[in-house]
Amino acid sequence: MAAVQLHGVGKDYGGTVGVHDVSLSIADGEFCVFIGPSGCGKSTLLRMIAGLEDITRGELHIGGRRVNALAPSERDVAMVFQSYALYPHLDVSSNLGFALKLARTPAAEAQARIGEVARLLQIEHLLGRKPRELSGGQRQRVAIGRALVRRPGVFLFDEPLSNLDTALREQTRREIAKLHRSQAGASAVYVTHDQVEAMTLADRMVLLRPPEAGPRRSSVAQVGKPMDLYHRPCSRFVAGFLGSPRMNFLSARVGAASENTADLALADGTVWRLPVVAGALAWGDTATLGVRAEHLLPVAPGGQPGLLAPLQGRVETVERLGDQTLVFGRGPAGDLVLRLADEARVAVGDPLHLAAGADHVHVFAADGTAVRRFAP
Ligand code: ADP
Repeated sequence: MAAVQLHGVGKDYGGTVGVHDVSLSIADGEFCVFIGPSGCGKSTLLRMIAGLEDITRGELHIGGRRVNALAPSERDVAMVFQSYALYPHLDVSSNLGFALKLARTPAAEAQARIGEVARLLQIEHLLGRKPRELSGGQRQRVAIGRALVRRPGVFLFDEPLSNLDTALREQTRREIAKLHRSQAGASAVYVTHDQVEAMTLADRMVLLRPPEAGPRRSSVAQVGKPMDLYHRPCSRFVAGFLGSPRMNFLSARVGAASENTADLALADGTVWRLPVVAGALAWGDTATLGVRAEHLLPVAPGGQPGLLAPLQGRVETVERLGDQTLVFGRGPAGDLVLRLADEARVAVGDPLHLAAGADHVHVFAADGTAVRRFAP
């Protein structure tokens, strides 16, 4: 088992920043997922931890040792790649045992470890086959097995499920979660752009944002438990990245603002009074309100007691997904999307009267910072 600590770790390519300074502590046994849009630095960060990419600045510690200058093989890590990266001329057994051979592990012990991992991954019947005689899913199991055999302190996964079809991806995802629980104490760092993988696998999620011009800041947008990021995004970027369909964003202008609340006037004139962080908004400021699709509720035209004043609009598109129906509409306050259960009776052109509970409305200042004050 091994903890991973990054202290201001960053990467430059020539004169341009690839990853702004990241400081992060991953505990023994923790499953940490890096997620973010393409180009935000997920792979670069993982490859710096693996030792496949030089670190431009900062300090990296694994298991309490500074490893900046150590080769990948000296870092107590094992990596699983998206491309599997198996040796085509070796059979499964030799692929699994390759690293053990390099480390001069005694043959009997190597055999025992290969057998154990093959049993765990249910690939014992494939041990004599070459990679080309395996399906994609079987190859990925071997790739995972090759990491397991080494019993590293830290498992590194670089989008390991991207090449699999949907059904296999879901199955393998659950197996990875189970395997991690079975490897008592080993940490995992997992890179993905898939929200479902991130939300379901992560003990803690690190959402990265792309490097931008201007003053240097961290590439980390927010770190936390998946549900905390979902329900308490610290910025409009995080709120908009997590969740499908995307959170509704409505432009607003600040009217009366007391120390702890603000009246936020939407483009259609509707005013919502919401608790905000003291002093975060002033009269005349622009702001953005955010409501998730599942929190916009169809109500009577005049609204519903206990909910905020309703927004009006008309249905433009209906997407029926079987277990749920997504309704896309437009109104004077802006574009609206809501999620209804089952095969809701709704048609294009229908009028919409939508309300939300005040507890479910996020407020973002003009610079994107979340300023809504939620009950503790
Ligand atoms: P992600 O994995 O999140 O898609 P990357 O880690 O691949 O992002 O890239 C992070 C940033 O670094 C991007 O802006 C990308 O253009 C840049 N970058 C990555 N690799 C190189 C490289 N070899 N040369 C120059 N820039 C690079």
